Amino acid sequence: MIVAEAVTQAGGIDSVLLDIEGTTIPVAFVHQVLFPYAREALPGLLATRGDEPAVREAVAEIAALVPGVAPLAQLNAWMDRDEKIGPLKALQGLAWAEGYRTGALRAALYPDVLPALRRWHAGGLRLAVYSSGSEAAQRLIYGHTTEGDVRGLFDGFHDLRIGGKREAESYRAILAEAGWVAGRTLFLSDIVAELDAAAAAGLRTCQLARPEDGTRAGDTHPVAATLDEVARLFALPDTP
Ligand SMILES: [Mg+2]
Repeated sequence: MIVAEAVTQAGGIDSVLLDIEGTTIPVAFVHQVLFPYAREALPGLLATRGDEPAVREAVAEIAALVPGVAPLAQLNAWMDRDEKIGPLKALQGLAWAEGYRTGALRAALYPDVLPALRRWHAGGLRLAVYSSGSEAAQRLIYGHTTEGDVRGLFDGFHDLRIGGKREAESYRAILAEAGWVAGRTLFLSDIVAELDAAAAAGLRTCQLARPEDGTRAGDTHPVAATLDEVARLFALPDTP
């Protein structure tokens, strides 16, 4: 494929792995839209969908973890402390799925993201996601953006089941699964510790420092404010 060869010669990058929060979606969307939506929806979800296996299973897990506490009270306590506990994440996921399904929720990416990802995809780059949100949550986000379902842009969706984002071994595992070459893969994230881990695994790295999120730019990785800047820094396809 001529376009892909040109890309390889120009920047040496043929694959891009992307974080979500702070990289393609504003941190504010997660904290000011998604989390409050789930908190508001959970009482009704427990009250009306308690017979569904997934809900029953999560409630049983809560009872096993914290015997004798009302499930909703425990969920609220976990949310107050921003804890990433299995049954909480499962129930939040169900609430978000319902919100996306009814149209109450739409994922609002940074405005530069979809145009850039479409150009990169059309230019022959392979794209994949690596986020601490579950694979199901990742698919919900990209399946319900303000511009519709864009899951087709991505070859893979990776979550913490493959390992933590601050461990080099996780990036090696993703590359092995995808069949990607470390030196030709670019990892994009707002978090320096994640970029350090990816660099230790041999990936190229670039930090997204989004002014609207107040991300502090580090000094150990190239820094870009938008995906257009990333494209310029790494000679990625940028013609529509
Ligand atoms: Mg992030």
